[in-house]
Parts: sequence; C-alpha cells; structure tokens
Amino acid sequence: MMQPKKLIIPSDRIERLEYIRRMFPNAVGSFLTDNWRGGRHEAIKRLNSFDIASYKRNHNFINGAVSKLSPYLRYGCITLKEAADIMQDRFGKESESFVMQLAWRDYWRRVWYQQGDVIYNNIEEPKVPLGENPLPDYIRQGITGLPCMDGVIRDLMQEGYVHNHARMWFAAYVVHWLKVDWREAADWFENYLLDGDKASNHLSWQWVASTFSSRPYYFNKASLARHTGEKYCASCKVDCPFDQTYEALNEKLFKQAANDISKTPAKKPALQQTLSIHQAVAVYAHDEMLSAAHPILRKSALNFFVFDSKVHAKWPLKRIQFVADCLNELPGMEVWVGDTATILNERGVGQLITQDTANLQIKASLSPFKVEWQPEFQFTKTKISEKRLKRFSRYWEKVGQEMFNGKIAGDNK
Ligand SMILES: Cc1cc2nc3c(=O)[nH]c(=O)nc-3n(C[C@H](O)[C@H](O)[C@H](O)COP(=O)(O)OP(=O)(O)OC[C@H]3O[C@@H](n4cnc5c(N)ncnc54)[C@H](O)[C@@H]3O)c2cc1C
Repeated sequence: MMQPKKLIIPSDRIERLEYIRRMFPNAVGSFLTDNWRGGRHEAIKRLNSFDIASYKRNHNFINGAVSKLSPYLRYGCITLKEAADIMQDRFGKESESFVMQLAWRDYWRRVWYQQGDVIYNNIEEPKVPLGENPLPDYIRQGITGLPCMDGVIRDLMQEGYVHNHARMWFAAYVVHWLKVDWREAADWFENYLLDGDKASNHLSWQWVASTFSSRPYYFNKASLARHTGEKYCASCKVDCPFDQTYEALNEKLFKQAANDISKTPAKKPALQQTLSIHQAVAVYAHDEMLSAAHPILRKSALNFFVFDSKVHAKWPLKRIQFVADCLNELPGMEVWVGDTATILNERGVGQLITQDTANLQIKASLSPFKVEWQPEFQFTKTKISEKRLKRFSRYWEKVGQEMFNGKIAGDNK
C-alpha cells in the first residue's frame, strides 16, 4: 500500500498544475487545457455570463451555446438547485430548456441512489441484440478511420469534454455498429472525461444501448452532418457506415433475433470490518462537495480530502488538476494522497461528518468510521415514485410541472 502523503497545493495556478503532474506521475491523459479552471468562482462566472436565448436555439448543435458547467456540477462547486435558481431568477420561463437539462443529471443521480451498483450492468433487458466485443485498440488510440469519431476521441483525450450529441453518436457507434460491450466502453469513456460521473455516464450508455430506455439510440449521416454544420462530412472520403436511412440502419444493426443477455449480478464493495478506536470528529470532503459555500465545510473541525486509489485510481491527470483548483478555494482543507482509513486513523479521527452520496466506493472507503451522512441539496422537493424513476419523461412530467407551472407562473416571471 502506498505511504500516505500530505499535499501542499500551491496557490499559484501554474505551479499548482505542475505540482499535481509531479505528485501523480501515473495519472493518464493530457494536461488540463486553458479552457478549464476548477472551482466555484469560475462556475458562478460561467452561469452569470450564460446566454439562454442562444442555448434554447442551438444547444443540440456541436457549436451551440452550451454552458460547459458539467465538471462544476460534478464536483459540487455549484449545486443543481443553485444553477436552476440563478437561471430561473434571470430568465423565468425562458430557462426551462436549460433547467430540463439540469434535471437529467438529477434524474440519473436518483436512479443511482435507487439502484446502487446495479447501474454498472444492464438494468433492463436490451430491446435489441447487443454485442459483447472488447473495446478495440483503434478506439482507444482514436484511429477508427472515420473523421467524425476520431474527432470525438480527440476532444475526449485533449479537452476531457465532448458535446452531449457527440457523446450519443460515439456511444451508438461503439455499441450498435461495433457491438462492443457497453460496460467496458462506458468505463473507458468515463476515465477520460473531466466531468466523469458514474450515474450520468453509465446510465447514458444504458440509454443508448436500450438497457434503460424503450428503444436503442442510433443516428445517421444526415443528422450528424446537420448538427455538426458538415464539420467532418464536408471533406470526408470514407465509405460512411452512417450514410443510410433510419429504416435501413434499423434493419442492418438490429435484424438478428433478440439475444438473451442476462444480468450480471452487481458486485458489492468489500466493507472493512474494523472500526476506528479514535474519538475525534472531522469533516470529510469527498469529490462531490467541493464548494466554499458548502455548510458542512464551514464547521469548525479538521477538514480532510483524500485522493484514495480505491476511488480515484483511474482519474486522468486533467481531472486531478481541476479538482486541485477546487481544493485551492477551500481554506483549511488538509489534502492527502493514500488510503483514507490509514490517514484518518493516524490523525486520531474516529467520526466523520460528510454529505451523503450514491457512490458506494466512497462509502466503502469510510466504512471504518462512524459517519454522519448529511443529505445533499435537493434539486427538487417533489417526491418521485419508483414508477416515475423508470423513465425521464415520467420524472419530468412531475418535476417540470412543479418548477415551471407552480413556482415560476406563481411568480409572474
Ligand atoms: C454517453 C454519454 C456519457 C455521458 N457522460 C457524462 C458524464 O460522465 N458526466 C456528466 O456530467 N455528463 C455526462 N453525460 C451527459 C451530458 O453529455 C453532459 O452532462 C453535457 O454534455 C455537459 O455539457 P454542458 O455542461 O455544456 O451541458 P448543457 O447542455 O449546458 O447542460 C447543463 C447541465 O445539464 C446537465 N446535463 C445536460 N445534459 C445531460 C444529460 N444528457 N445527462 C445528464 N446531465 C445532463 C449537465 O450537468 C450539464 O452541465 C453523458 C452523456 C452521454 C450521451
């Protein structure tokens, strides 16, 4: 096991990013680009300069005015509720298309809480035959020979950010054209994303595959060309596998008899048995609550954040650098690398206060301690039944109604 090491995160940005590179020599992927700076300050800045009218008009196009807020929401620099409130206060009913996108994140998160580690395997039987091919090396290296798919992989590797529509095309290509096992592909994809999030990522792959949706998602060349403004297609010379009608593609991709893919039982994380003998109470900041405005982080107790290989081993360099930016905004935070239980025990900690999470890896890493799990901020107070959680449309029917026909209409905005 690696010796615990305390990190002293430099306040100077350039030094900070270099320091993280030195401290995490095994982290994969490229350096965080200048387009990204972690932390709450930047999240609020992005929200305040957000152009809702353009978003409404063109967010489905890859050059559309999307917010690029996903990493900030992922690490809790800003909560979904705060983002929705800021937008509703600024734009009233006009913010609906954006708030509905925020709701997707909330929806996936609720499903994660409900299903636990089952999200890593088929939640439902697939509606079309799926394959179990391994992820080919040409995908990992970004040399598929298709300029559009290579472009997606390039964005993923360099920027760690891919537009939502492009994520859907890529997932559909890998799952339905190449018949790759979605689980392996989803793990690989998440490992390079700046906003890598178990729920949004794995459940979106299931949505594309049709193991958590009523039908598979697929696309054709005409749709891709339109939503990219011909960016890849204009000069593309390849024999395009997407250049077909939807009927022809349906026939080609799914004509085999439905295969019987059984659910692989979800693995439960091994819980540590030995409870800490220490008494001291500390605040534990995990990677979903990195905001200086978080009330738990304002308590007068020792504050810890640990880069623990049980949770963060596969994180790419740029994600660790982004999180280091976030941690730099949190005064008094002790930042460590190593095994959480060893570090906290050595510091005499026996009890922890932290925010609840659906991430069972985080829960397993804190299992030797008595933990007070405080509820996370709710995006909506609406009670969602199990039946409504089966599909986003049923969830939004209720949540959208509360948000836009109750609150906003009542406010006369
Ligand atoms: C295969 C696949 C994998 C994905 N993996 C992730 C992931 O690991 N982490 C992640 O945060 N999102 C993931 N998404 C969802 C979505 O693509 C990103 O949240 C979105 O592209 C982020 O860009 P944005 O902030 O500019 O979005 P905007 O369009 O500006 O939307 C605002 C916010 O709404 C939320 N949101 C929007 N669309 C979705 C969606 N479909 N699902 C969930 N939340 C959404 C995000 O938090 C986003 O920041 C994935 C989607 C697909 C199809």
